[in-house]
Amino acid sequence: MTSSATARPPVNWASAIVLTTTPIAAALLVPWYAFHFDFSIAAWVSFFVFLHLGGTSISAGYHRLWAHRAYEAHWSLRLLFMIFGTMTMQNSILIWASSHRTHHRHVDEVDGDPYAITRGFWFAHFGWMLRNYDTGKPDFSNANDLMNDRIVMFQHRHYLPLLLLTNIGFPLAVGWLAGDLWGVLLLGGLLRLVVSHHVTFLINSLCHVWGSRPYTDENSARDNTVLAVLTWGEGYHNYHHIFQYDYRNGVKWWQYDTSKWLIYSLSLVGLTWNLKRCSGFAIQKAQLTMQFKRTEQQIARQAATRTEVEALKARMTHEYEIFTASLQDWARVKEEWYTEKKVELLQKWREAAFHDRFREIEFRLKMQRRRLRALARYAATP
Ligand SMILES: [Zn+2]
Ligand SMILES: [Zn+2]
Repeated sequence: MTSSATARPPVNWASAIVLTTTPIAAALLVPWYAFHFDFSIAAWVSFFVFLHLGGTSISAGYHRLWAHRAYEAHWSLRLLFMIFGTMTMQNSILIWASSHRTHHRHVDEVDGDPYAITRGFWFAHFGWMLRNYDTGKPDFSNANDLMNDRIVMFQHRHYLPLLLLTNIGFPLAVGWLAGDLWGVLLLGGLLRLVVSHHVTFLINSLCHVWGSRPYTDENSARDNTVLAVLTWGEGYHNYHHIFQYDYRNGVKWWQYDTSKWLIYSLSLVGLTWNLKRCSGFAIQKAQLTMQFKRTEQQIARQAATRTEVEALKARMTHEYEIFTASLQDWARVKEEWYTEKKVELLQKWREAAFHDRFREIEFRLKMQRRRLRALARYAATP
């Protein structure tokens, strides 16, 4: 019998040293320095500014722009994302985005997902980086597009000098200018790096465990507002895992997603374009499918105690027929729209008429979601 200890892959010393020593150093040095010398305002400002620049570069840059191609961006913005993304010490864009694509493709698979939550919370959080696991081996076969991006490849080839420049050079320069060299090095350099690491890691760990699943239960990803606030909007991970090409993670207008707002605002001045959005219909359909599933389970749980279970089931069947009819209507209108588009240049009024028909079906689905919510509430009351 082989023990699991002998089967363990070799330690990845570079990342093991960084990931273990930086939190310990921050936990000891930051309070010690605060006690003896106190931090300047400039040191705290450097902490928040560098933290936000790095977090945004990971969320809007590494993740939505490069890993998912959810929009396109001007080279100056890509350059900024590259520089401050490097500062977060999460590997090159090429490695990060390629392994993230693998995560989406093989989510939760023990043998395929580089940070599968099914291998445990700590493995998904940062254990996957401590050893050279087979699932974590770089494989750029899914990243040909990125290998043609000059900024991506420049960073990949010069990763170490860029890492040192941003993590030591930037805090040193700011600290020197502000007259608080050690303060900025400790807050804007060290503490910022540790916080930035662990809030990003939470998306792979906690966001696959804690939260709601309004769009799909076919994988472990959750929507979690608390995590969204900590991660520049990345916390709506259930939505993201089903509609990964959408530039929004928090799809509702009120959902806290600073990266979505930034990407949209920059599109107004021409720095980003071709923003991809999943259709309202597909989103409603996913939500309704989940609601049907949940309400049915609720009714099944009540079966022993409730007398009107049959009536509830009949209502569900009726609702389901309406749902199927709406889906068929949608497919039919879409078909008509395609055919008309193919044979002639659609006149404006015809296009508008189609638009109204699509919106009418979407509205029907929205109303049905409300009815189902009421039904689920009713079924849940004892
Ligand atoms: Zn995920
Ligand atoms: Zn993703």
